[in-house]
Formats: sequence, structure tokens, C-alpha cells
Amino acid sequence: MKSTFLIQRYVPEQDSAPHVERYELDLWDEATILDGLLAIKDSQDDSLAFRRACRHAICGSCSMVVNGYTKLVCKTAIASEVKRGRSELKITPMRSMKVLKDLIVDMSPFWKHFRDVEPWLQPDPAKVPPPNEEYRVTPQQLAPSRKDLNCILCAVCFSDCGVTEVDSHFAGPPALAKAHRFVTDPRDSKRKERLEKLVDLGLWDCAHAYNCMECPKHVDPAHAIADLRRISIEAGITNNIGAKHSQQFTKSVGRNGRLDETRLVMELTGITNVTGQIRNAPQGVRMLLKGKLPLPMHQKVDNPKEVRRIFETVGTKDEQ
Ligand code: SF4
Repeated sequence: MKSTFLIQRYVPEQDSAPHVERYELDLWDEATILDGLLAIKDSQDDSLAFRRACRHAICGSCSMVVNGYTKLVCKTAIASEVKRGRSELKITPMRSMKVLKDLIVDMSPFWKHFRDVEPWLQPDPAKVPPPNEEYRVTPQQLAPSRKDLNCILCAVCFSDCGVTEVDSHFAGPPALAKAHRFVTDPRDSKRKERLEKLVDLGLWDCAHAYNCMECPKHVDPAHAIADLRRISIEAGITNNIGAKHSQQFTKSVGRNGRLDETRLVMELTGITNVTGQIRNAPQGVRMLLKGKLPLPMHQKVDNPKEVRRIFETVGTKDEQ
């Protein structure tokens, strides 16, 4: 099968800016993108730099951006891109990390966030069994973290996350999925401390783009983040803007069947907080002038009872 690879090349010590080089290939039908890169290195240009190791989607080394989406290239067939109507494969390094050479990036920011969530079990020393005994947990107890355990630290979701790209403070999907793995482990004794720290690391900063759901190992960090938020509210960690926003949002929709945006802002600021309300006023006026303030002011949906019924049903299910 014939294909064309357009690869971004860049050696910071030599080049003033990245440039694209074109390679023509004719490989077997099942060839992966990694097979294509190896063929280029073997027979066309041995100076091309990229990471790879196991070739079986286990080591997580060969992540790079293919036609706009980050992928493990050992797991992605050239044919699958061609089938998507991409006869040319544009290959660039992962985003949100500095390029060291060609397709190799400096993953320090990824590892920093990962270390920040303390990805190791911290049990209560009084409950740890003696060295010759196992600390047993049942499959049911580990069920909430089952998907998290599949993470191979490939950074695909870190590279494709829109928030990570603009906010270096945000821990990012893989670190939060790993945090979820320990928060939900019944042996860990630092649940509350972990959750409080996660709020500082950006637990509420995820913007729900859901790019991380394209995880090659089906980890589903978006679900892990949503679950961490739920657990943190249940643990009483509500003195932060994210939890308050979520609670007021739910209350508003439950009350009227529709979000009352104006009241939401007022309640988040504090209804009796006159200084805060005055401080918000200029933004309210700007929104009004731009036509972004709902007018006439908030109205209930035609049948709010129906929405309340849904809320009651979901609430009852949560309690069961
Ligand atoms: S969650 Fe998935 S995409 Fe993200 S680092 Fe782990 S394996 Fe890779």
C-alpha cells in the first residue's frame, strides 16, 4: 500500500524553525505508522528521531500527533488513516511539551504533574498486615479503579487536552486518573488529604472537551475526573469555586428546570455580599450590551415538575 508521510523535523541546536519533510512509502497492507517510521529510518533517512520500544501498545513510548490527533503509532494502521480520507499522514510531536528533536518531546511537565498526585499507596500503618501476609482487597472493592489501572503513561490524553495546552498548572487527565486510582482504593488512608490537594491541582479546571476519551487503553480519564469531583463533594470539600458552581448549578436546574445564569452568579458571589455584587456589576452591564444577559429575566420551563421528577429519580438511585 502506497502512502505519503509528511514529518515535522526540528533540531533546536541547528534549525531556526521546524520544517516538514516528505517521504513516500510502499508497505504491506497491515503496516502501522510505526512500521512506516522505521522503514524511513532504515532506508531513507537515519537521522529521523522518534521514541519507540515494545511495538505492542504496552510501553507507551511512541505517542505522536497524526493528522491532528495524538496516537500510539504502533497501534495505528496506516490504512486506518487512509480510510479516513487522509492519503497523506502529517506527523508532528506531542503538544504541551517542548520539542527536543524531531518527534521527541521533553516529558518533564507530564511527569511533574504525575508526581504531584503522589501515585503510590499510603495505607494506615496500623492496618498493614505483617510482611508474610497479604493486604487483601476484593475485585468489587477495586472495581472503581479497574480502568485507571490500564494506564500506560503514554501521554496521548495529556497532549490532546485543550486545558493542559493553555494552563500549565492543570494536572491533566492522566495524573487525575492516577489520583482516582488511589482515592478509590480501600487500603489508602489519605483520601481526604489527596482530594484537598487535587482541588489545588485543578480538579475543577477540566473544560469537558472529552478528547481524553480517545485513550488507546480505554482508561476514560473524563469519567475519573467527574467521579473525583463527586467524591470530593461527598467528602465535604465544597469551599472552592468549582464545587460551589456545581452545587448551585444543580440547585438552579432542579428548582426551575432551566439554569438561571444571573442568579447563579449572584449566589456564587453570595447574595448578601454587597461589595462582591457591586464588583460584578460592570461585567453584567457588558453582557447586557453584548446581548448575553438573558432577557426577559429568567423563566421557568413550561413543565418544571417533569424536571423535578428526573432529579428525584436520580437522587433516589444515588441513595440505593
Ligand atoms: S489515560 Fe490513556 S491516553 Fe492518558 S496516559 Fe494513560 S493510557 Fe495514555
